[in-house]
Amino acid sequence: MNAPTNAIESVLVENRVFPPSDATQKAARVSGMAAYEALCAEADKDYEGYWARLARENVVWTKPFTQVLDQSNAPFFKWFADGELNASANCLDKHIGTPVENKTAIIFEADGGEVTKVTYKELLARVSQFANALKARGVQKGDRVLIYMPMTIEGVVAMQACARIGATHSVVFGGFSAKAVQERIVDVGASAVVTANYQMRGGKELPLKAIVDDALALGGCDAVKTVLVYERTPTACAMVAGRDITFTEALAGQSTECPAVPVNAEHPLFILYTSGSTGKPKGVQHSTGGYMLWARQTVNWTFDMKDSDVFWCTADIGWITGHTYVAYGPLSAGATQIVFEGVPTFPNAGRFWQMIERHGCTVFYTAPTAIRSLIKAADSDEKVHPKNWNLSSLRILGSVGEPINPEAWMWYYKHIGGERCPIVDTFWQTENGGHMITPLPGATPLVPGSCTLPLPGITAAIVDESGNDMPHGAGGILVVKKPWPSMIRNIWGDPERFKKSYFPEELKGYYLAGDGAVRSEDRGYFRITGRIDDVLNVSGHRMGTMEIESALVSKTDLVAEAAVVGRPDDLTGEAICAFVVLKRPVPTGEEAKALANELRNWVAKEIGPIAKPKDIRFGENLPKTRSGKIMRRLLRSIAKGEAITQDTSTLENPAILEQLAKTN
Ligand code: AMP
Repeated sequence: MNAPTNAIESVLVENRVFPPSDATQKAARVSGMAAYEALCAEADKDYEGYWARLARENVVWTKPFTQVLDQSNAPFFKWFADGELNASANCLDKHIGTPVENKTAIIFEADGGEVTKVTYKELLARVSQFANALKARGVQKGDRVLIYMPMTIEGVVAMQACARIGATHSVVFGGFSAKAVQERIVDVGASAVVTANYQMRGGKELPLKAIVDDALALGGCDAVKTVLVYERTPTACAMVAGRDITFTEALAGQSTECPAVPVNAEHPLFILYTSGSTGKPKGVQHSTGGYMLWARQTVNWTFDMKDSDVFWCTADIGWITGHTYVAYGPLSAGATQIVFEGVPTFPNAGRFWQMIERHGCTVFYTAPTAIRSLIKAADSDEKVHPKNWNLSSLRILGSVGEPINPEAWMWYYKHIGGERCPIVDTFWQTENGGHMITPLPGATPLVPGSCTLPLPGITAAIVDESGNDMPHGAGGILVVKKPWPSMIRNIWGDPERFKKSYFPEELKGYYLAGDGAVRSEDRGYFRITGRIDDVLNVSGHRMGTMEIESALVSKTDLVAEAAVVGRPDDLTGEAICAFVVLKRPVPTGEEAKALANELRNWVAKEIGPIAKPKDIRFGENLPKTRSGKIMRRLLRSIAKGEAITQDTSTLENPAILEQLAKTN
């Protein structure tokens, strides 16, 4: 990269600009801002023509589409609706007979450091064989398969195999609890579950199959006819005769050839649950055609993927990032990618840097929380500082999942990217399918902490509460004005909630992202200011406050009432703070600590360890208006340790504020 145009030493100043180097710009697919603007102009002039061109160039269609965007049943938009394709064929089959077939598709590094590689040809054979095993167990086109797997080649194989036969997968992150798994099995109506006996994380063997057993025992899962169990470790796990089958048994005798089933462009490729502002997680339903277009296109644009690249996205397949930028996008682009089973701090906090050196990683994509925790580790232990490893293979860095603070950005830029590598700060959501607002490495001048500009064709804007455009410099609500191909199609089983959550009437039919944002006055760059709903972002993962509250109050022997808010946290971006009213006197000292721990473990059991509140404060009551509404803004101030300066005149019980501020 060139030196910043207005380099200022202090990392607190955010007006530094880092344009791409001439070499990066020249070699890039979107080379310079003029090229970016030309694409934007093309989309602007003929919106449907633009998307149709990209869809023809990027996707292999078994039946070409003649329609582009169907808005007749808005907001249930359809894209390329008379076209047919198969997502797995778009990732695997299309490379057969090309030089890519013998290229390494996945470099898998296990928690313990063992490395396994598969070529595209081998991956196709494995996916086909597993697809045949699914069929042999009765899974058909249109069925839903719940996947609860560790980060492994087999996890990707399971997703691709579902896609191959037209089954819709729903992946659940391996850190979610039995209850969360059960709720998702029931909601999605899964007929099969794919899991592993155990997963290895940070040197520990953690059960997965036992959690599935517990989930199925919770009831309502009668539709599940088969559970396929990958033997990740040699340790045995309980198996239910007739229902459960190991991968070894299921794959035995199955052919390594399985034709990819063409599906309609609108066929649901997957349903992925995410937290919303009510208690129940939302099953975000994605399409096949529009999704595959954007997965492929964004890999090529945002990461400017080249044949020689070794790409590494550290996200788990249980999140949207692991869907688009592990299971589908890189494979559709014929890239070599690293899949990592473990955690960044095992056996020490140098693991990521060691792996970049070991595998010659060129494009590295991770979350700000990981970066912040590794900065902390490097600051306190020289031995895990990135300077100990040769990171010169890197050419592009990426950030995803939460805002990256300028301090972390600068460290990433300097210590990982050697002041050479552009950082693409990619803003997008589960509902978006792929990147929305992000720099392009060979075009966009970077500003630390800003996700810069929308990708060409993405009509992101900032509006007020009536949907009117806000001027640059003024904060507002982030929306997307026009439908785009990889957008959410529905909330599984709840079209009314889909309409209400994402297309509220007062916003002129725009897609509501759920975030606040502001554009810079000089460049019009977007900066995300955080969620505007009751959703927290903890370590880049979305957690609904209501979901955690329902978990807390479901401990009926102890909890009378609970309210959950977020507070800023140096490491995880936001931390979960719970205010709890017990069915007994307010505890103090050791008793309070013990009860707080009991509640944390309860939440971990109900949702998963990621939802454990960091702070739990007990009180006799919660601050409520006379009509009984909890005043969360006051709780947010208390959680932050701020003095309450806001109007409390509508409060029924003002004295409670003092009590809550005191307790911990
Ligand atoms: P998820 O759907 O779980 O991926 O979470 C999406 C949410 O994460 C968004 O609504 C934002 O609040 C946040 N987010 C994702 N990427 C970024 C980013 N690059 N900058 C700021 N916030 C982000």
